[in-house]
Amino acid sequence: MTATLDAPAVETFDSLDPSTGAVLSTWPVHTGEQVQSAVANAQEAARWWGELGFAGRKPHLAAWRGEIARGMPELAKVVHSENGKPYPDAVLEITLAVDHIAWAARNARRVLGSRRVRSGLMAANQASTLEYAPLGVVGVIGPWNYPVFTPMGSLAYALAAGNAVVFKPSEHTPAVGAWLVEAWKRAVPQAPHVLQLITGSGPTGAALCRAGVDKIAFTGSSATGRKVMAACAEGLVPILMECGGKDAMIVGDGADVKAAADAALWGAMSNAGQTCIGIERVYVTDASYDGFLSELTDRAAKLRPGAGDGASYGPITMPGQIDVIKRHLADALASGGRAVTGGTVDGAFVAPTVLVDVPETSSAVTQETFGPTVTVTRVADVDEAVRLANATSYGLAGSVFAASSKAGVEIAQRLRSGMASVNSVIAFASVPGLPFGGVGESGFGRIHGDDGLREFTRTKAITRQRFALPVPLTSFERPAKVTGQLVKVVRLLHGRG
Ligand code: NAD
Repeated sequence: MTATLDAPAVETFDSLDPSTGAVLSTWPVHTGEQVQSAVANAQEAARWWGELGFAGRKPHLAAWRGEIARGMPELAKVVHSENGKPYPDAVLEITLAVDHIAWAARNARRVLGSRRVRSGLMAANQASTLEYAPLGVVGVIGPWNYPVFTPMGSLAYALAAGNAVVFKPSEHTPAVGAWLVEAWKRAVPQAPHVLQLITGSGPTGAALCRAGVDKIAFTGSSATGRKVMAACAEGLVPILMECGGKDAMIVGDGADVKAAADAALWGAMSNAGQTCIGIERVYVTDASYDGFLSELTDRAAKLRPGAGDGASYGPITMPGQIDVIKRHLADALASGGRAVTGGTVDGAFVAPTVLVDVPETSSAVTQETFGPTVTVTRVADVDEAVRLANATSYGLAGSVFAASSKAGVEIAQRLRSGMASVNSVIAFASVPGLPFGGVGESGFGRIHGDDGLREFTRTKAITRQRFALPVPLTSFERPAKVTGQLVKVVRLLHGRG
């Protein structure tokens, strides 16, 4: 008998309130057999969904978007309870995610639809077309820090491109994942297998990699990314990797230090610093350093972490991360750094922390901290700032404040990262048309934008012969004299360079 997803669970896990550790809900650990059965159902659903075409899928995606938009207050409460972020921040996260569904559905035909391509002189008798066909079934493995926005970058784009999806949310936010999938079932009741939920931790995710999916879209830490890649390598399953970061902000001479401090604070501390594109390091030129640091420190000291209404940010979601944050703080202080504000941890709550004089070799500078902490480092000039910002194995995003927007953009172009914001922080994430992703240990492949749609397709190239050439080139009937003629043509066309 096939083990369906709703078979009684042999093993379960609990979703916990990160502020108190109380059990919020209990979920099945789906087995390898159950994951395979979900993928088999998805394969069948993918055929129907793919054949609907862009126009046929659009109303279903709109219905799903409508369900999420109408249920936003309820979903935001689920996000708040499982992730711990304040309710208004959960609303902001869902707002951005909903916008991505609209963009992906609206642009799928333009980006992926069949188009003519010039055939060129040597194939003048051919009509050439290019199209982007769905892959089939995409497995989406999500993180907990933005449990709606982040997986939506894969879910919405994979679905709009014509794929069915099997979604494994993080074991820390299963109820958020379940809410999104239930919303799909309400919106498109005739096709529950187009978007399915599986729950569990690492082994369930690994089973998904091996269950016959056509692609895995993974978001999580670089360390787990390596394991996912190894599991996918067994079946040559292509992967999209959205991993961690150690993003830097650069504040140059003549920059608006108040605006830069405001942006750095949000980039570093919102969501308790648990943001892949969060600001973890700031490099400030000599002339701007004192002004920037005092602005940032004053503002940071006013933030209030907590679980209730009005908190600036919530608890650290994953209990194990608290030890990492403590270790980085201890290393920063032991190696000569100072906490000009914060530096303390109270249960799951980390005080807003600004660190200075931290050597570049400290783990607080080299590794992803994922807490409401930021290092501020004085540099001689922008060249030094760019060199230090780029001296990391990660390369996700970055932010720049300079004397002029033009200077800011020039600095942003020199950052070795997939994204950057000038005069603001993480703004690129709110632009659906811009691809999102990193380089180095931050991963590869892109969600969002045209690239994000193409990521979930296979390129299909077709030629249609319109008429036979007077002299056949790819035939055993080719006359011998053609070879000499070809040499002449190639010399004429390309030999003068
Ligand atoms: P994680 O790596 O611990 O887990 C991510 C997901 O992978 C979870 O669903 C987990 O169950 C699953 N998983 C664990 N082991 C697995 C295995 N062996 N095979 C398959 N799946 C497995 O990451 P996390 O702690 O949930 O998320 C935080 C990390 O995600 C941070 O590093 C953050 O920077 C990164 N992140 C990146 C982006 C981005 O777009 N680049 C966005 C959000 C978060």
